[in-house]
Amino acid sequence: MSGNDDAAKTAKIEVWWDMMDCPIPEGYDARQVRPSIEKAFTKRGYSGPVSITAYGDQIETPCHVLRALSSTGVAVAQTRSDSTRSVMYRDMVEWRGQNPPPATILIISDQVEGDLSWDLARLQQRTRYRLFLAYSMKPCSDRFLFRNANWRWGQLLEKEEVGTPPSLVAGGLSSAAMFYCKSCNFDCQSLKKFRKHLSSYNHGMEEAIISLDTRLVCVTKNWARNYPATPEHATAKILVLWNMKDCPIPDGYDSRRVRPSIEMAFKELGYSGPVSITAFADQKETPVHHLLALSSTGVDFAHTLPWVEYSRMVSDFDRWADDNPAPATVMIISDELALRKSHSSLICRRLQKFNYNSFLAYSVRPFEMPVLATSAEWLWESLLAVSETRRHILHKCSESERVVASTGMFSCKLCLCDCKSLDDFNKHLLIKEHTKEEKRIITHSQSFPRRQRLYKISNYHDEVGYPPKNKRKRKAPWNGFLPRSLRFTRR
Ligand SMILES: [Zn+2]
Ligand SMILES: [Zn+2]
Repeated sequence: MSGNDDAAKTAKIEVWWDMMDCPIPEGYDARQVRPSIEKAFTKRGYSGPVSITAYGDQIETPCHVLRALSSTGVAVAQTRSDSTRSVMYRDMVEWRGQNPPPATILIISDQVEGDLSWDLARLQQRTRYRLFLAYSMKPCSDRFLFRNANWRWGQLLEKEEVGTPPSLVAGGLSSAAMFYCKSCNFDCQSLKKFRKHLSSYNHGMEEAIISLDTRLVCVTKNWARNYPATPEHATAKILVLWNMKDCPIPDGYDSRRVRPSIEMAFKELGYSGPVSITAFADQKETPVHHLLALSSTGVDFAHTLPWVEYSRMVSDFDRWADDNPAPATVMIISDELALRKSHSSLICRRLQKFNYNSFLAYSVRPFEMPVLATSAEWLWESLLAVSETRRHILHKCSESERVVASTGMFSCKLCLCDCKSLDDFNKHLLIKEHTKEEKRIITHSQSFPRRQRLYKISNYHDEVGYPPKNKRKRKAPWNGFLPRSLRFTRR
């Protein structure tokens, strides 16, 4: 792991900068941009060579700024303002294709949120780069996109200005400084030529007639749903996190077939690594015969309540990730995690962070493509049917009606306690400490809508001012409920 880390820290750093979203402040020396960015990286231990491209409508950029930028090796790209975002993204995708990791990416823009972050999060799950963002007004608040930092553009420039004399200019025009016109596919190394090009008839015509697609092209949208295993994943471990409530065992289905079905589906795609399965649910509602049968096939049980199911899943995942670095595969069986928003963000961020391969199964095919970038997806029902056609393999197992002694683990994710047998587990679910913990979580979750409302009210007051001037000032009733930090934090 540390070897990978070292390589990442000295790897190249590529910067895509939207100059219109994040402009150079009035009076700021443009020659400081590069050293400021470099210092921000150095501070975090990244020492690789930095290349920066500044995008925007450069007709509006003063000559001395262009000169200053290029003198410090910042490349300048001409784009129509309305297509800067899509051109920048297209260039980044192309760069990724030519520059395999390890490498670091910095996107300086106010327009990362939305389809860009969705597509980027999926790209990052498949091929992981260190990702940094910077913004001036509008930070990307999509929680599913994992980034190493989200800098404020102003601060990024400000902090570094003090005490850093502009020294890079002495060498004159850097060899890295190129000028590009993205509308005409034109490039040169001379500012004079570039200005001349921008004011030329041909350029004007090109920008007027071409209908540059201003819409972002999401490259992961046409990714297939099932890929055969890559050599590195073929024999790697597979962790299965199964939400039994979303994807229950159908009536009459022999639950001893769950594990073989899952394993066979994996094998069909070339995955033969060891599979560990944990079933999450309020296990008091799971029929005993399912508990016995599943655990006899080595399925682990985690007892949770609906409100904490995903957080417990994620903490299980984290613990597993500590001991199992990539390559490995994580399978999520859940309807909720197949949704674009919702809890999937927690899992998605971790998949980007750890660079795992991922599978997904759901009871209903999601309407939108999930942000989880999967190598394989199944409908729960058809996944369970996989073993049906190959009954002979199961013959030995189904021969006897008697369930063998359990091999799976039972754990209560509310009290964080592990039980080796179903008997112990059942006993645990009845003890006072457990009941108390369960009650505490239920009470907490029931008060959630109320706390959420109070939080929103406090945000509203924060925006419009409180109390209204024509009313007598009195202590707000919500004062006692929310900690100060929550009351005045705006997201
Ligand atoms: Zn042009
Ligand atoms: Zn418990």
